[in-house]
Amino acid sequence: MTGTTSAQLLQRAQQVSPDLATLLVAWQHQQGRHHLPWQQAREPYRVWLSEIMLQQTQVTTVLGYFDRFLTRFPTVAALAAAPLDEVLTLWAGLGYYSRARNLHRCAQDVMALHGGVFPRTALALQTLPGIGPSTAAAIASFCFGERVSIMDGNVKRVLSRVLAWEQDLSVTAHVRSLEAAAAQLVPARSEDMPAYTQGLMDLGATLCTPRKPACLTCPWSDLCVGRRTGEPERLPVKTRKLKRSERESWLPWLVWRQQVWLQQMPDKGVWAGLWTLPLLDSDAALAELLGPEGVAQAEPQPRSKHVLTHLDWWLNPRRWVMGDAQAAEVLPRLQALSPSGRWVSEADLALFGLPAPLRKLLG
Ligand code: SF4
Repeated sequence: MTGTTSAQLLQRAQQVSPDLATLLVAWQHQQGRHHLPWQQAREPYRVWLSEIMLQQTQVTTVLGYFDRFLTRFPTVAALAAAPLDEVLTLWAGLGYYSRARNLHRCAQDVMALHGGVFPRTALALQTLPGIGPSTAAAIASFCFGERVSIMDGNVKRVLSRVLAWEQDLSVTAHVRSLEAAAAQLVPARSEDMPAYTQGLMDLGATLCTPRKPACLTCPWSDLCVGRRTGEPERLPVKTRKLKRSERESWLPWLVWRQQVWLQQMPDKGVWAGLWTLPLLDSDAALAELLGPEGVAQAEPQPRSKHVLTHLDWWLNPRRWVMGDAQAAEVLPRLQALSPSGRWVSEADLALFGLPAPLRKLLG
């Protein structure tokens, strides 16, 4: 099976179409998930919001955030009009903050360029910030019945198995071939698209899971070529694994007159646009900033590990409540270190977009 070509894959897809779609739609109606809040009204704003939140994040985590966002921003117009900091604050804890920034920019573009109405096709939706092909397909198929296939990580896994596509998905051309095959599998009737799309998501989340696919109860069991190989869990093949690395930072938590010194992170990179304590790469750099008095007085806080997709990040905060003279001495060094920095009243911290570990720390 390792030598399957793109043409053979396409042929395989054509052989099982339209049966796969028929089986999946029926299964979704009977046994799929129907209780998720964004399913209650298939409305572009809600679907878009849920899709962006669900990227890299579990459904159970997203539920609370989704409700809070909708309560605060019931429409795309409300979201577009909100200050970015408020959006980031509400997003804190979901991670991948570029998603929140794009969410805000996208809402503003929908208002400015599309009269407050989401475009109806996957192609047009992809022109908006933060909406990639799979999210665009989800919105277009759920809300407008467009016959396009979503293609997130779960769907790639499910389709690789059902079509026994054993080529390495680290190679873009192999993903493209799978996409072409996926396009063959969508139902003929556009009114079946919401159930089909949801069915793909449900299958990936509940039955065709990464380690132990539940083939016996799967609606595609009889047609699944991967299952016939005996080891569907070997698929998909992906050789290029994300390399994890470690980083350690020292965070001066400087308090002066009930204010904390915060700096804003650059627009790109980890915690983009969020407010944090200054970040230093070594104990020595921290000592240089604080001076001998600060080193003696700053209280070490518990070291914590912040886990990102590719990085384990160790954080070492040191809290120092400074008097006026001490603050005056440290300030020039602080300003040189973090030009975007400023004193923020402890009472106002909730108004600033802080990453989850700092929100927890600063309370
Ligand atoms: S039969 Fe098994 S491997 Fe095939 S799609 Fe279903 S759960 Fe996945």
